[in-house]
Parts: sequence; C-alpha cells; structure tokens
Amino acid sequence: MMSDVTQIDVAIIGGGIAGLMLGNEVTRRFPKLHTFVFEKEQYLADHTTGRNSGVLHSGLYYPQNSLKHRLCLEGNELWESLGREQNFTVQKCGKFIFCSNLAEFEGLEKLKEQAKKNSVPGVRWATANEKKTLQAYANIHDAIFVPSTGFIDVPSAISALERAILINGGNILKNNQVSKIGRDNQGIILETRDGSISTKILINAAGLWSVALGKQIWQNGLEDYTVKGSYLKYSGDFYRESFIYPCPLSNLKGLGVHSTFDVSGAIKFGPNVEDVSTIDYALNLPLLEQMKTEITRYYPHVGLEQLSPDYCGIRSKIRSKGQLYPDFWIKGPAETKVPGYVEICGYESPGLTAAPAMARLVVSLLEI
Ligand SMILES: Cc1cc2nc3c(=O)[nH]c(=O)nc-3n(C[C@H](O)[C@H](O)[C@H](O)COP(=O)(O)OP(=O)(O)OC[C@H]3O[C@@H](n4cnc5c(N)ncnc54)[C@H](O)[C@@H]3O)c2cc1C
Repeated sequence: MMSDVTQIDVAIIGGGIAGLMLGNEVTRRFPKLHTFVFEKEQYLADHTTGRNSGVLHSGLYYPQNSLKHRLCLEGNELWESLGREQNFTVQKCGKFIFCSNLAEFEGLEKLKEQAKKNSVPGVRWATANEKKTLQAYANIHDAIFVPSTGFIDVPSAISALERAILINGGNILKNNQVSKIGRDNQGIILETRDGSISTKILINAAGLWSVALGKQIWQNGLEDYTVKGSYLKYSGDFYRESFIYPCPLSNLKGLGVHSTFDVSGAIKFGPNVEDVSTIDYALNLPLLEQMKTEITRYYPHVGLEQLSPDYCGIRSKIRSKGQLYPDFWIKGPAETKVPGYVEICGYESPGLTAAPAMARLVVSLLEI
C-alpha cells in the first residue's frame, strides 16, 4: 500500500501509548492530514506500554511545574473522559500511602505538603477506621489517602485508540520499522519497509529507541539509562478497594515496592529497580526473591509462598551532560531546529497517565 505514497503529512514513530495517543489527537483534530503511525513489532504496545503497572497517577510525587507534574495532573483528568467516550475502564479507586513508624512520619507529612503544592485534589489523612482496616494488610503507623489515583484497562485503551485512529482516517503500519531518518530539501525522509517516505511532520515516540533515532536528525546530546522493573503476582487475599503504597524513602530510585491490582482484580507487588544495559525481558529471579524481604517488612501478612514471578518492563530514563535528566524530554522544532520534528525521550513513569496531555502539548509545539 505504502509503495504508492511518496509524500505524507504526519509520521509518528512508535505504537506505544505515546504514539497512539498522538495518532488519536492528530487524526481527531486534523482528519484531512495523511497521518501514519509506524510500529516495528507485529503488535501494538508490546514494549513499555504493555509492561507497566497500569496506574493512573495523581501527580503528587513530581517537582512542582515539571512536565511530569503538569502533564500527569492534566492527563489524570483527561483519561476519565477518554475512557467514557471510548468505552474502556478508567477507575479512580484511590491510594493509601502509609508510614510504618514514627521515624517515617515526616516523609508522609512532606508528601501531603507536596500534594497541596502540586494541586492534587482531595488528599487527606486516613481516618482511624480506615487505618484499622488497612492494618490487616500492611504495617501501618499512619497514612494519607489520595482519591485521584486509579487504574486504566491498558489493553482495552490500546484497542480503542487503534480503532479511533482508523475511524478518523489515519493509518497504523505494524511490523514496519523506520530504519533511518534524515532531511532533504523537501523535508524529512524516512526509510521504511515500504521504501523512502517524505513527511512534513515527524514525531519520534519510539520509547526505548527514541534517543538513538533522534541522534540521526539532530544532536540531542542524550544517553540512555535503562532500568528494569519486575513484578511478583500474588494469589492470596488482599485489599482491593484502593492501592496501598509505602511512603517512598528518600534513597529510593522508584516509589518503593507496592501493591496494585488491575481491572480483573489480580494483585501484584513491584516493580523493583534493576539497572540494565540491554532490552531483555528475562526476569532476574534472585532479585525478585530479595523483593520478598521488602514485602514482608511493609506487608507482614502476605503469604510468601503465594507470590510468584510475573513480568517486567524497562524504564526509559535518560542522561543529559552526564547527569540524570529528571523530567520528560519533549523538544519541538524551536529547540531541535529541525522544521516539523518533535522528539519524546525519557518518557518514563508517569508517561501512561500523562499521555493525553502530552499529545496536546506536542501538537501545540508543531503549530499544525
Ligand atoms: C515497570 C514500569 C511500570 C510503569 N508503571 C506506570 C504506571 O503505573 N503509570 C504510568 O503512568 N506510567 C507507568 N510507567 C511508564 C509508562 O509505561 C511509559 O511512560 C509509557 O508506556 C511509555 O510509552 P511509549 O509509547 O513512549 O513507549 P513504548 O510503549 O515502548 O512504545 C514505543 C514503541 O515504539 C516502537 N518503535 C521503536 N523504534 C521504532 C522504529 N524505529 N520504527 C517503528 N517503531 C519503533 C517500539 O516497538 C514500541 O512499541 C511504567 C513504566 C515501567 C517500565
């Protein structure tokens, strides 16, 4: 089909949540443009998007006014309406964040203060009754409740977005790797399975591959810093009304080992944190064994024999000038100096939650 197409309007590289949300936004707002999403795998969302916790985050952990904070807060709201419109589950079940002793209480107070600064709605101290209920599951001294946290039925959301893009007249080309990007006098050139394609706009939403791809068209100066997160699934009984997270300790790289459940009610613990240098989804079983010690500390009633290895995902963190870059990296033509080009790198958590707001931001950078 593509062999006839020499010129298109919009190319989006990546069929994860970033690329699909962008495809939805572009085709909904500009149905007359010829828009194509390229995905190198046979299936959509086969990498990070299909391997996360599926949590709709509230936006409380991130530095005030960072992209992570602003896009997460806005995305949290937008997902609810998207789920309603496109008929998939987005449920705000809320989350308790607890400390286990007086020494950790200050951390909890700081988090509550941060929630206020970040305008996260409705955050409050847990009631005595709630704490009593939760003590049957976790080692709780005190807790706050964050009502806007929830979960997304990710597989259904992916199918719904795919459908919406096609209905809006867009195209999704699976099994179609963009092997090269470059520029000529006309604009941006892509090498694909179907030959060379010229596009006016290119959005690089290639997840773990976006840094390397970006370097083909401008000097983004970034380095990948990939961190694996693995999960244990739990077949025992657990609290399923809201999530229960420990208060993250200041020396942690993630949010601390926590419990979540998905739309089917399946409980999992994780993700843990493991620096890796390759994209390999094999589970590190000794490290998962170690996670059980942490689980016992925070959730003493969990039956360890009912925990079993589940799956893992890889966080696409980045370094700039040798330092960890703490925010999403979203650069449009004004910064890349490449007309029509936007790149999204370091799009780690809360990238799922932020996606609808990120898509709006990217479109505004392009001034289509
Ligand atoms: C363990 C873990 C837990 C997480 N939990 C949460 C959570 O609970 N809530 C939350 O909000 N966020 C969470 N995140 C973050 C979230 O999952 C990511 O921010 C998001 O999925 C990134 O989406 P993406 O589209 O950028 O990347 P991906 O989903 O990886 O999509 C990129 C796609 O690009 C394709 N691609 C790459 N190169 C090419 C090419 N050259 N040509 C064609 N296609 C190409 C890839 O095959 C891939 O499908 C978590 C992340 C991890 C790792």
